[in-house]
Amino acid sequence: MASSTEHPATKALLDRMQHSRVEGVAIAPGDDFRYLIGFSPTPDERPCYLLAGFRGAALVMPSLNARQVADHTSLPLFSYADADGPAVALEGAAEAAGVPSTCSRLAVGDSMRADALLVLLAKWPAMRPESASRLVGGLRARKSEAELGRLQATADLADQAMTEAFSACRPGATERDIADAASLAFREGSAEEVCHTIVASGPNSAYPHHHTSVRRLAPGDPVTIDIGCRVEGYCSDITRMAILGDASREYEQVHAVVEDAVQAAMARVRPGVACAAIDAAARTAIERAGYGEYFTHRTGHGIGLSVHEGPYVTGTNRELLEPGMVFSIEPGIYLPGRFGVRLEEIVVVTPTGGRRLSRLTRDVFSAR
Ligand code: ZN
Ligand code: ZN
Ligand code: ZN
Repeated sequence: MASSTEHPATKALLDRMQHSRVEGVAIAPGDDFRYLIGFSPTPDERPCYLLAGFRGAALVMPSLNARQVADHTSLPLFSYADADGPAVALEGAAEAAGVPSTCSRLAVGDSMRADALLVLLAKWPAMRPESASRLVGGLRARKSEAELGRLQATADLADQAMTEAFSACRPGATERDIADAASLAFREGSAEEVCHTIVASGPNSAYPHHHTSVRRLAPGDPVTIDIGCRVEGYCSDITRMAILGDASREYEQVHAVVEDAVQAAMARVRPGVACAAIDAAARTAIERAGYGEYFTHRTGHGIGLSVHEGPYVTGTNRELLEPGMVFSIEPGIYLPGRFGVRLEEIVVVTPTGGRRLSRLTRDVFSAR
């Protein structure tokens, strides 16, 4: 459906650009592109850009994608045939957007391919590219009501898929079987894409990003299930633990420490608190219990159109939380060769605190 006005996010980017020192912004197909105009063609080797400059925004498109993109935006569009290459179209779009031919400061989207960046460097030889993440990431980090609605919908579907994955946990089942149960629930629930289905059983659970294998579950195995999908563009991400049969005392103890870390971090969430303070809250809980060296990653990441985006919840990020920011809190303890425990919640910053999207308990699911 053709819109008669610019996408509000494109306008917001142009406004932010006026207050920055860059002379232009170039965004390649991907999540930034989708955020800015509401649609993105599939990224490939054909150069394709959303350009923003002092006059406005314009698009450079390979002609095979031009009609599809034109259905989603009223921005001036400069297309080129495969046989001709993008030079003339890029010239036209730069002129229309108002990116000067002497441009020396261009902000480029983080996921732009190197070949697409090389085309820009050839056009503007004096240009030093810089990251557009401060401009675009700053916009994307604060979610609108509509975006929060989509994040809730995708989180609800992830809860359902987790419940299905739990019911697939039984002795003799493979990690792959459990991942398949989650994938099936995502597809039946109209997910646009299954993003990840990490299932790590027994000693594999000591790898934070294990590659789901055909290992068969045995009695006593803990199972880490970390899954997510996309609904209307927006991603979900949730981690829960299952155990086959009864948990050992040690498992219960480690699970309880990770649970404390989640609670400590969630309790700190409110506008004005630094991301680093959220990380510190989780980390301190784990360090106090003596497992500090086994919590080997950041506490969390922002989530939206991308599974991983800003704000990043690390020990060094001084960025302050603002209402509408959405991020994961996912501390873990990984005991090499033995087992690991991670629990992950997606949290929305509200005016007075934080609210989690999942409605599932974080207690270990005991499979029989
Ligand atoms: Zn991850
Ligand atoms: Zn995550
Ligand atoms: Zn995850």
